[in-house]
Amino acid sequence: MEMDTPAAGIRVPSAGPFRADVRGPVAQWRPSPNQGPRRGNARPRLIVLHYTAMESAGAALDRLCDPRSEVSAHYLIGASGQLWQLVAEDRRAWHAGAGSWGGADDVNSRSIGVELANTGTHPFPEPQMIALETLLGGIMDRWKIRPEGVIGHADMAPTRKADPGPRFDWQRLARQGLSVWPEAAAAEGQGDFAASAARFGYPTEDAASVLRAFRDRFRPGAKGPESAADRRLLADLAARYPAGHC
Ligand SMILES: [Zn+2]
Repeated sequence: MEMDTPAAGIRVPSAGPFRADVRGPVAQWRPSPNQGPRRGNARPRLIVLHYTAMESAGAALDRLCDPRSEVSAHYLIGASGQLWQLVAEDRRAWHAGAGSWGGADDVNSRSIGVELANTGTHPFPEPQMIALETLLGGIMDRWKIRPEGVIGHADMAPTRKADPGPRFDWQRLARQGLSVWPEAAAAEGQGDFAASAARFGYPTEDAASVLRAFRDRFRPGAKGPESAADRRLLADLAARYPAGHC
């Protein structure tokens, strides 16, 4: 059943026995006080992925539910794929902070936040990725969020944030239609990096931090000054997925 304003919880997948999503976990409800109404009746158009940068999911859960921390997220996924829901999807969780995507700020009002339990330096384990993929499919389905609407915290706040970082496998999500990935051959010429960055959605204040965020996500390990490869890949993303469509 499709609902306009979905209640908390995860859609039961109607999948066959060999689909990965039947292994998807059911969310445990652990309500956080750190939330409120979405401003201006905004609907979520983005999903923002984070890592917790903490030693354990339990510690992250405590922090995300502590009124003194003034932070939260809609979901937290543990390393073994355990899934907690802290804020109902139609409410505004406090995960994004200052930043913007596609020229629009108050990302909290326009997004659903998903925290992945990870110290920031570890790989993301397979069960956690499977749980994330199942969750993303459900959220995107419920809210009609497009693959280009699935972004990282570093994408919308590149001067402040690095998560989910260069170890996160964005290409894997893109292969499943759960995010986007550039095609080098698709781009004609190179274009201007800053213009492409703005068109794809990045904030424009700080070119160096945008280059870092772009590379962490699409060219992990790339170093040195902005190159033709950077310009070509970002031009392709900007042409196919301009943020105004989100
Ligand atoms: Zn974050």
